[in-house]
Order: sequence, then C-alpha cells, then structure tokens
Amino acid sequence: MKIGVPKEVLEGETRVALVPSAISALTRNKHTVHIETGAGVMASFSDREYQDAGATIVSDAVELYRAGEVILKLNPPQMHPQTGKHETLLMNEGAAYLGYLAPFSNMDTIRHLVERRITSFAMEFVPRITRAQSMDALSSMATVAGYKAVLIAAHHLGKFFPLLMTAAGTVPPAIVLVLGAGVAGLQAIATARRLGAKVEAFDPRPAVKEQVKSLGATFIDMEVTEQVETTSGYAKEQSEEFLRKEREVIAARLPKADVVICTAQVFGKRAPVLITKEMVSLLHPGSVIVDLAAEAGGNCELTVPHLTAQVNGVSIVGAVNVASALPVHASQMYAKNITNLFLNNFPKESAVPNFEDEITRGSCITHNGAVMNESIKSALAQNTEAKHV
Ligand code: NAD
Repeated sequence: MKIGVPKEVLEGETRVALVPSAISALTRNKHTVHIETGAGVMASFSDREYQDAGATIVSDAVELYRAGEVILKLNPPQMHPQTGKHETLLMNEGAAYLGYLAPFSNMDTIRHLVERRITSFAMEFVPRITRAQSMDALSSMATVAGYKAVLIAAHHLGKFFPLLMTAAGTVPPAIVLVLGAGVAGLQAIATARRLGAKVEAFDPRPAVKEQVKSLGATFIDMEVTEQVETTSGYAKEQSEEFLRKEREVIAARLPKADVVICTAQVFGKRAPVLITKEMVSLLHPGSVIVDLAAEAGGNCELTVPHLTAQVNGVSIVGAVNVASALPVHASQMYAKNITNLFLNNFPKESAVPNFEDEITRGSCITHNGAVMNESIKSALAQNTEAKHV
C-alpha cells in the first residue's frame, strides 16, 4: 500500500508518526512510504534521513494526502491551517487512517470519516492485551510523560531531589507524592527515585501496591471497600464517598510534600479531583504540582491546561502534550507502535484489514461508511439527538 505520513499541524507538536528507522519494516512488506517535507525536523529527523531509509519526500500536504492509500498520523485529524481544509477532507475517499482519534471529543471527525468511507483505527482503542503491547501508544506516551513530569517538577522546585551531605550542610531528600500508579505514575516513581527523592504513591487498584514497592516507593494504604477495577484491569469511576476519603488521606500528606505528580485518570471520563482548591493551601510555598491529567479536567482543582499557575507560592503545572517535550524518543516509540499496528491490521501486504483479528476489530472505529465501535456509535447517536433538540 502507499503510506502517507503528513507533518503534524497541532500547535506545539514536535513529534512525527514515523521515524527513518521504522521504514524498512514497511518496505520489506512491499509498502511504499511518502512523507511530507520537514515532517520529522522538530524531532531531529531530516528529509535526507527519510530518503536514505527509502521514503519519498512530498513537497506539500495536499499532494501527500493525495498519494496516501493509508495515512499514519499522531494527533486526531483537525483543520489544516495551510490548506484551510479539515484533514479528513484531505484524505482520499476510501483511504485508511491510523493514529489518535479522541473520538468522544471529536464527533464531527467521526462523521467525516464515515461520509468519506475511511477505514480508521484509533491508537486509544488498541486492546490492552499482551499481544498488543508493542502497538500500545498510550503506554509509550505515558512512559515519556511520567519521566518528563518529574524533570518538569525538578525544574520548578528550588530544592535538590537527592540527599546531599556537603561541607556546607546536609540536604534532606525531596518528598514526592505520586497520585495514580498506572504507566505514567510508575515511570514518575522510577524517575523520582533515580533522582534520589523519597516517594509515596497511591492508586485504588490493589495490584499496583507491589509494583510501587518494587520501585522503592511507599504505597499509601487506604481501606478500599468498593469494586475499583474493570474486568480489563482499568480503574472504574469511583464514588464521591471514595474520593472524599481519598482526599482526606492525601490532605494528611500534603504538608510534607515538595512535589506532587498527578496521573490519575479513568478511561473516557473526567479525571478525578484529588486536590481541591482548599487542599492546595496545605502545601508549603515553593512546592510543585505537575498535573498530567490536565487535559482530562485535572486532578487538582486549580490546574489550568497549558499554564503554570502560582497559588500562595505553589507552582501548579497544567501539563499538556508532555510527550512532545521529548520528541526523539517519543517519535521512535510511537513509530514502532503504529508500524506494528499497521502490519497487524493489514497482514500479508493486503489492502484489506483482517477483521478476524481481535486487535484489528478492537482498534477499528469506522469502516465502509459505518461506525464499527459500539460505544462510539451510541455516543454519536446521542450527540446527533442533542444537536436536533
Ligand atoms: P490511565 O492512564 O487510565 O490511569 C492512570 C492511573 O490512574 C491508573 O493506574 C488508575 O488506576 C489511576 N486512578 C484512577 N482513579 C484514581 C484515583 N481516584 N486515585 C488515584 N489513582 C487513580 O491508566 P494506564 O496507566 O494507561 O493503565 C492502567 C491499566 O492498564 C493498568 O492496569 C495497566 O497494567 C494496564 N495496562 C495493560 C497493558 C497490557 O497488558 N498490554 C498495557 C498498559 C496498561
């Protein structure tokens, strides 16, 4: 198939969906790769490197989309500033799309994909099963974000992270509190530990306790009486009673914390509020909150996405698209994930997706003019009704 890789147009985006080292896996399977000029430049990959790896450089977005039977992208399709057209309209009718889609907040995009009979696969919907681990971009980008969140915190904190014994006195280690110990939280714990901080963490999923402890952090115990996990291992949306208790547990720790890394999320829902406005005043001046849940509403009530707010001397970082701050490795990891997903969903050089396969079925959002995912189908129907009211 002819694969097209456009330059990302989201403001502040530095990553690219495909890196030169990922191209051979595609060309070996008889696919050709077309990439828009300059697509990798922000991630330090030049046109020359893509060319040397076997890709054809295409001079503009319109030509690129026209050349692509399948488009590999990162961010959900959006209005293309140079052409003034939505990226779904730049794609060929009947083409295939692989990338993020954030379908619940992009219903119009889903409608465009249906109208143009585009076969779309969303990175967010790749099943979290063992066989799909090498295609799991959520985990890759969460790994980058968890690591970088700690470095952002260290940058804002006016203190050392490690214990230092110097001739000028002894410096105690920084105390870091990590809320949510999924992929990003565990990486944040590991990074803060490597920098020498004392780390405490909480997550309602019981399986996490051992993982937290194995990284040298303390797991904060809290009595959990409700079912907190879905059958697929994700956290469920918790009751207000649960969150009230959790906030009490967190509040008891805030006066000692130098840094709080917030990573708590519930798939498809607003992130739980774990630090209220009042609780921020429990932190001492100079401490730092890095809120990786900012885009999903924030774990801290005072988080403003994209901004670093100062409240009573506390820095609250509304961290958005953190993976973009590490574009080389974030792009490399994403390229591996999307290449593996493409080769899985279109096996044996075929242009027809293999819907017998669980990963293909699970990640497919639209095909042949229809929505394939039941939860998105019903969200779309409700959205249509709401529009008609
Ligand atoms: P996520 O980004 O949806 O959530 C981050 C974390 O927030 C989760 O650990 C969740 O339990 C936690 N959380 C939710 N509500 C909270 C609250 N009130 N307080 C504190 N923490 C709260 O999740 P994720 O990191 O993408 O992945 C989480 C799950 O998926 C884990 O079970 C992980 O092992 C599993 N997973 C499996 C695979 C695989 O098998 N292929 C790959 C990746 C992740």
